[in-house]
Amino acid sequence: MKNGTSRAVLVGDLFRGDGPFLSIADDFVAMRCGFCGHPVDDDARFTADGFWCSACATALAASIK
Ligand SMILES: [Zn+2]
Repeated sequence: MKNGTSRAVLVGDLFRGDGPFLSIADDFVAMRCGFCGHPVDDDARFTADGFWCSACATALAASIK
């Protein structure tokens, strides 16, 4: 696991296969939003809660301000 204050998801975390990032990796491989389930394209975002489409990530960012 990474240290420091970054909330980014590391590829090494994604594909370890034994941690909380496994579902995120599934979404990443399937290229679907982990929140709304819609397909995502090159505008997908990694958030602290998963691999989301830009609309969901933007809504989350707005909701926590
Ligand atoms: Zn979404």
